[in-house]
Order: sequence, then structure tokens, then C-alpha cells
Amino acid sequence: MTDQNTQHPLAMLDSTRAFIAAPRRMLIDGEWRESETGETIDVINPADASVLCRVPGASERDVDLAVRAARRAFDDSAWSRMKPTDRERLLLRAADAIEAHAREFAELEALDNGKSAAVAEALDVSMAAQCFRYMAGWATKIEGSTVDASIPYSPSNAYFGYTRKEAVGVVGAIIPWNFPLLMAAWKLAPALAAGCTVVLKPAEDTPLSALRLGELLQETGFPAGVVNIITGYGRTAGAALAKHPGLDKIAFTGSTPTGKAIGHAALDNMTRMSLELGGKSPVIVLPDVDIERAAEGVANAIFFNSGQVCTAGSRVYVHEKVFDRVMERVAAIADSMKLGPGLDPSTQIGPLVSARQLDRVLGYIDAGHAEGARAIAGGARGDGTGFFVKPTVLVDTDHSMRVVREEIFGPVLVAMRFSDTDAVVKQANDTPYGLGASIWSNDLAQVHKLIPRIKAGTVWVNCHSLLDNAVPFGGFKQSGFGRELGRAALDMYTETKSVLINHA
Ligand code: NAP
Ligand code: MG
Repeated sequence: MTDQNTQHPLAMLDSTRAFIAAPRRMLIDGEWRESETGETIDVINPADASVLCRVPGASERDVDLAVRAARRAFDDSAWSRMKPTDRERLLLRAADAIEAHAREFAELEALDNGKSAAVAEALDVSMAAQCFRYMAGWATKIEGSTVDASIPYSPSNAYFGYTRKEAVGVVGAIIPWNFPLLMAAWKLAPALAAGCTVVLKPAEDTPLSALRLGELLQETGFPAGVVNIITGYGRTAGAALAKHPGLDKIAFTGSTPTGKAIGHAALDNMTRMSLELGGKSPVIVLPDVDIERAAEGVANAIFFNSGQVCTAGSRVYVHEKVFDRVMERVAAIADSMKLGPGLDPSTQIGPLVSARQLDRVLGYIDAGHAEGARAIAGGARGDGTGFFVKPTVLVDTDHSMRVVREEIFGPVLVAMRFSDTDAVVKQANDTPYGLGASIWSNDLAQVHKLIPRIKAGTVWVNCHSLLDNAVPFGGFKQSGFGRELGRAALDMYTETKSVLINHA
């Protein structure tokens, strides 16, 4: 292991340093294990392309061991006999433990993903803790209903009917690299609140915070096998998990093509699934806006998390009356943003997660230029060995271009003008995706007319990508199906059992 002091001059906690210095293993049945093949995966710091540490590369057999452990824990362990109040208590303790290690988690996210540690602490980590706390409350509120049956062909008997909501069983969770800890929380917290057991596979690019969370959940008192965390490649470990017949449910967040592959594999076993997929979310700016406020909103909607957000506002439609003024300000904001490593408190935009993502995003910028788009900000790689892309604003774009049609997942905004509401609705919906959208205006009548016409799982007004644990989140169209967060999340982790009792 190289000397972390020389490799990472930016300040970090001793506990963070110790975590990345020790050999990392994966969590199967309450034990920390290597891959049975001995394979490892390098964990890369995207700010300077250095190797932070190594994690096991799980094989199909490791996945099988983890699923079997989760099955045992679901069927016949202390977990299955645990009362809802005890699950609630464990989830509340988990929330406290995440908060108690907030800075450490934020630093791990900064090192592994590239994002700002300050932002991660305020947002990713606090939202993850809150997710556990919010879902803890649901453990004691999972309810069925009662039915007075009136079965016409059995008139002499009396029937009492009721429904039970039962934990769906063993859950396979596959998550992406853009919000590693938060996505782990979104899967684990509702699954555990419902009484499920879980095999979680973090993204190969960002496994560290999930492994740290696994340690804390063990300390918190979750029985062995309830939470298993396997690190590995999507094409091997992820695919083996998705097609495993021992799963009752698969919960996935990531790209639409991978989501479809997982969906096909799951359907063969009739595994329940929820798919949280990609997006190309429109931002609609009406002519009554305050220019400065709208420009800040537009810039934040795309550049937050270096554009690596499933709901990133990656297409902006600005009314022609204000287009030039709004976009001039957005470009100025983009030009002013400070690129840097996530551990530097002055960083406003971190590197992309990986060399692969860097190539992909630069490839889209080149494609945009080749198709006639013009960059009014950015348009190139940032300085240094890290995977930096300058915040980029493309104009002279239209719906025939790949940069307008496809999810880029980087700090690249395409801007178009519109003149009337019907036209902008048509443009906003001209996409296979339907995850999010935002409308910027104080014209209530216009806003209310637009909301029902936009095909998206969430519509924000005068804000963008804001999330709350109590508000359901998910996609229309090819952005997936199922809803996470809120009461809706519990439906994803429970089955309904109907009971009819003849008491004549
Ligand atoms: P991805 O392929 O969808 O990866 C998401 C997760 O699925 C990762 O854990 C990945 O493992 C795993 N995976 C990959 N192939 C799999 C398979 N065949 N079976 C089961 N699991 C599999 O996303 P990506 O390749 O990292 O990024 C590609 C593009 O996806 C991005 O450029 C972006 O457009 C989009 N994306 C969207 C979201 C979102 O939140 N909507 C998030 C991330 C990426 P590995 O990490 O080992 O590949
Ligand atoms: Mg990494």
C-alpha cells in the first residue's frame, strides 16, 4: 500500500485513512470474506486516477453464498421472529450510526466518487441517515385491511376476509456510483423495515461507503445474513445476482439498458422488480422569471454532482423573450465554477467518476460539435490527471442530435428556445425517458396547465432534483417502474396475502 500521506495531501480523518489502508473484504453471512477466486478490483480515486485500495471481485459462487445466507436469515433466524418495534429500533440505531460517522462517509464518497465532501456530508449522508430513520417508522405501520365478504354462491356461510402485508423475502439490490451511500440506504432501509433480507451489490467504481455501512450495520445488531454486501463487476456478480432463482425481489438503480437486461433475467424467475433508470430531464423556463434566479436554478439543475444525477436537468427550454439573457448568465456561472478534488472545500465541481465516464462524456461533446452544436461554456476536459470535464453549455441544438436525445450523465447542458406552451410540452416529452422535469415561473395558471402535461415521475417548480424521504420517487416511460421513498416504497418490499375465514 502506498503512503496515503503523500498520495492525498488534502486533510482527512484518521478513520478514513485507516479504512482505505486496511484490506477490504465483502460481507457474507456476517463474515468479512475474500472472493473465493481471490480476484480483486482496484478502487480508483477519480481526482488523480490513483489506486485507493482493492476490494474483492465476487464470483457467481460468492453471489450464491450470499443469496443462501440471506435466505437462511429470512426463513429461520432471529430476524424472522423479530417484532416490528425491534426492527424499528435497529433502523433507528443505524440512522444514528451513519450520523455519528457523517464526516468519514463524506470523505469516503469524495475519495471514491469524486464528489465534494462538504456537499456529501450535507446531502448524501444526512439524507441516507434520514432514510433509515424515516423507514424505521414504517416498520410498525405495515397494515392490511379487513373485508366483510358476501360471497353469493355460499349464502349460508359467513366469511371474514382480511389482508396481510408480508415481507417479500430475499432482495437483491444493485446500485450505481453517483450517490453510493444514499442509493444503498434507499434499498436497504425500506427492505429492512419490511422485514426482508438483502444482498447488496454496489457499483464497481464506488464500493467503499457500502462496505463501511456494512460494518456499522453489523455493530448495530442486525443478525448475520440479514445484510450481505458483495463487491464485484456488473457483468459477472451483478448478472449472477439478477438471475439467481433464490431471490424474491430485485431492486435496481442505473442505466436503462442494464435495467432492461436485469428485468429480462428477473422475469424468467418471476422475481419481483423495481427499476429506477435513466433520464433526460427537461427544464422549462417561462418568460416571467427573474433572470438571475432562473439562471442559478438552471446551472444547479445540470452541474450538481458533476451532472451525474439521474434527474439532472440536461435539456433546458427557455422562452425566446428571455433565452439570450438566461443562457448568458448560465454560461457565466459555468465558466466561474471551480474544478477540484472532493476533499478541497473550495471545489464546486468534482471529477467524473471514472476514465470510462470521462471518455463517454467527452465523446458526447465531440458528437455535439460534429452535429453543429456550439459551446458557449466549457466543451473540453479539465486540467490535471483527474477525470475532470469543464461545465459545458451547448446551444444551436435540436432534437435530431444525440446530445439532445441521449443521457450523457455529465456536466453537459443543451439549450433550446421556445415560443409557445404547446411547442414546449411537445419538446419536453419528446424523449424515451420520463424521470423528472422542472418549471421555472411564478405564473400559477401556466404552471398548473403544464404539470399534468409533462410525462415525468416528478415535476419540480422553481427547484430541481430536490428529494424528500416522504415523497415517492420514480420514473414514467423508460425511466423505469416502481416508486422508492414515501409509503410507496413499502409496496416494493411486501406481498399481499389474502385470508378468508369461514366462521358460520
Ligand atoms: P449501469 O451499467 O447501469 O450500472 C449500474 C449498476 O448495475 C452497477 O452496480 C453495475 O455494476 C451493475 N451492472 C452492470 N451491468 C450489469 C448486468 N449485466 N447485470 C447486473 N448488474 C449490472 O451503469 P454504468 O455502466 O455504471 O453507467 C453507464 C451509464 O448509465 C451512465 O453513463 C449513465 O448514463 C447511466 N447511469 C444512470 C444512473 C441513474 O441513476 N439513472 C446511474 C448510473 C449510471 P458495475 O458498476 O460493475 O458495472
Ligand atoms: Mg472510485
